[in-house]
Amino acid sequence: MADVTLVDIEKTFRGKTTVIPNLNLCIEDGSFTVLVGPSGCGKSTLLRMIAGLETVTRGAISIGGRDVTTAEPSERNIAMVFQSYALYPHMTVARNIDFGMRLAKVPVEERKAKVAEAARLLNLEELLERKPAELSGGQRQRVAIGRAIVRNPGVFLFDEPLSNLDAALRNRMRVELAELHQRLDATMVYVTHDQVEAMTLADCIVVMNAGQIEQVGTPMNLYQRPETLFVAGFIGSPK
Ligand code: ADP
Ligand code: MG
Repeated sequence: MADVTLVDIEKTFRGKTTVIPNLNLCIEDGSFTVLVGPSGCGKSTLLRMIAGLETVTRGAISIGGRDVTTAEPSERNIAMVFQSYALYPHMTVARNIDFGMRLAKVPVEERKAKVAEAARLLNLEELLERKPAELSGGQRQRVAIGRAIVRNPGVFLFDEPLSNLDAALRNRMRVELAELHQRLDATMVYVTHDQVEAMTLADCIVVMNAGQIEQVGTPMNLYQRPETLFVAGFIGSPK
């Protein structure tokens, strides 16, 4: 079970800028939940609070029924994939994928098996000995996802992972992410400002605006029955 529950979450930076006044959300176990909304509406902040990279000013977060409001990122059963892949430039693909497991002192045989499995899943088998500089943007993004996969998290957090890729590659990676979700049986929380991405990937879309949730629903639901003009405008006018 890896549902994510946010209760009465407030986020105020430096005691004065309230970015999220009061937010309640339940992200279902095993869902592909997409957070959408315009730039600056608080999507990354929300994801970073779930990850434990940002504290909450008020409220509680639980993952899989366990209160993690003040838990370290490593204690949250999550892995996060960023828009800027944050790979180590001096390490090979294999070492990059392996790095977190090494730190966590996972036995070497298990590490090898996991790197091999991630490489197979993500089509990186031929690239394991290359350095990040020798990879395309899409390949780098796969390595970043590989690094998350080997940690076996119950929840994957993605912050605009495809926004640095060109349109063709973005389409391909979208399909791959959907397949990955099917295979991994994990909860995915995916931030984007791209309506097309949201409509094609999500079982559940959360529309945010200025730190508040406008509406939660399936893509079909939001498309057919938007509850506010904002949702209608946002979902109804794909780029
Ligand atoms: P989004 O990801 O939806 O584009 P963010 O969560 O990055 O939005 O930002 C939401 C708001 O919070 C923005 O107004 C941003 O300037 C502000 N913000 C983000 N991080 C900080 C910070 N560390 N200190 C102060 N304000 C911040
Ligand atoms: Mg953001």
